[in-house]
Amino acid sequence: MKKQEHILIIGAGLCGSLLALRMAQRGYKISLMEKRPDLRKESVDSGRSINLAFSNRGMKGLRLAGLENKVAPLCIPMKGRLIHSENGGQFMSPYSGRDREHINSISREDLNIMLLDECDKMRGITMYFNQKCTDVAIETATASFQDYLTGEIKVYEADVIMGADGVGSSLRKSMLDDRKFLFSYGQDFLTHGYKELSFPPDKNGGYLTEKNALHIWPRGKDMMIALPNLDGSFTVTLFLSWEEGTYSFKTLDNKKAILDYFQKEFPDALPLMPNLIEEFNDNPTSPLGTIKCSPWHAYGKVLLLGDAAHGIVPFYGQGMNAAFEDIVVLDKAMNKFPGDWNAAFRAFQAERKEDTDAIADLAVDNFHEMKAHTASAIFQEKRKLEIAFEKEFPNEYFSKYALVTFREDLRYSEAMRRGRVQDKAILNLIYDKKITKGQSLRQQLDLVMAETRKMLHDDAVVRGMETE
Ligand SMILES: Cc1cc2nc3c(=O)[nH]c(=O)nc-3n(C[C@H](O)[C@H](O)[C@H](O)COP(=O)(O)OP(=O)(O)OC[C@H]3O[C@@H](n4cnc5c(N)ncnc54)[C@H](O)[C@@H]3O)c2cc1C
Repeated sequence: MKKQEHILIIGAGLCGSLLALRMAQRGYKISLMEKRPDLRKESVDSGRSINLAFSNRGMKGLRLAGLENKVAPLCIPMKGRLIHSENGGQFMSPYSGRDREHINSISREDLNIMLLDECDKMRGITMYFNQKCTDVAIETATASFQDYLTGEIKVYEADVIMGADGVGSSLRKSMLDDRKFLFSYGQDFLTHGYKELSFPPDKNGGYLTEKNALHIWPRGKDMMIALPNLDGSFTVTLFLSWEEGTYSFKTLDNKKAILDYFQKEFPDALPLMPNLIEEFNDNPTSPLGTIKCSPWHAYGKVLLLGDAAHGIVPFYGQGMNAAFEDIVVLDKAMNKFPGDWNAAFRAFQAERKEDTDAIADLAVDNFHEMKAHTASAIFQEKRKLEIAFEKEFPNEYFSKYALVTFREDLRYSEAMRRGRVQDKAILNLIYDKKITKGQSLRQQLDLVMAETRKMLHDDAVVRGMETE
């Protein structure tokens, strides 16, 4: 079958730049089109999260493109959640009992710059900045771009167009507007929004609080988190209701209200935030939503990837990781159907959609877990037990968090199925006092495994009945 030559990629963000690199490595000619200026030459406000949690599935994508060593210097390991209680106390809840397992804080900008630099070095990639895609003619793989500097509109033709243009994807919009095929689209917003704040570095450029952790202030209804940056600062994100309850972005509309709220809810963080009022007033408040759509492809001519195909809320730290994993799954599908875009795109979606739907749902679950459950006694007891299992029996036990975050060999959908059942099993056993202090850790693990197996079996029976 004829190999198509030219791929036009919309969006040179995290997914688009890695995708361009991988497709060029496969021998295609690439046009990488980005609406923003080149962030290596001009300071660009990406509009959202300054830093991100980067973990195994994301690394799998970078490894495919040979970038494992390039990303390492950008990473700050975070070994667990450092939980700041309401009474001012704090404790570390490790992400895993296995020493090798941790997540990393990484700067969105540094990572994007590294990827763009790699694209620059790669033959076959041409990058165009300040080019906003305004419309895609899907059947002919023709896209219109407006030059932000001159206002000029140019039309580009390609063999294939890939949309990695994020949650507001122009390609997805064109697919939705195309009346010739059925396109399903759903968007779900949380009642909470987010605002980014910061802890600056100390006067010697060091960290004002523990560097190697993801800090969380869980407050039941709302929550604040902080991730470290390489320059000694932390990016702090407040997740708060838009307008419900005593405290909301609506009620925090003056200096006194903001200070009272932080004094009451985050008294240990307040002294680390000398610029709180300016940042609170100047930084945008942004929405949090899940986007699901289908199909991700049409006519073997266009394909959506990353946030453009599946926007998720950030509470599992997996949006970018999933976008990078998309590229691994697409690469595999292209190996299976060389030269046949339609078949490759179909295979890609057939394998991937169930998984991105799963991580979308898990991310919403984790919102509730992080803001409320991390502070609850039974949740903490469960986490302690899980960490002990993982330490003592590293090849036998994987918590739901570990299945999702560290087991990149497992599909998200499988991690969700096993993880949810296991969580239920372990919580039931603790709640029913079937796990007791007198038992050995081995006996406790056997109980959890047996209960999980039984519940998985019941689940399989029910699912089997549903499909009959
Ligand atoms: C608050 C917050 C915290 C997050 N934390 C994490 C985390 O800890 N870990 C994690 O893995 N993920 C996290 N995410 C998710 C992560 O940011 C996204 O999943 C990731 O950025 C997706 O990459 P992308 O390239 O698909 O989209 P984007 O990063 O949005 O990139 C899209 C690119 O396309 C460009 N573009 C858009 N429209 C056009 C157009 N019409 N024409 C041309 N170019 C266009 C944009 O300028 C941008 O460069 C977080 C998200 C948020 C909002």
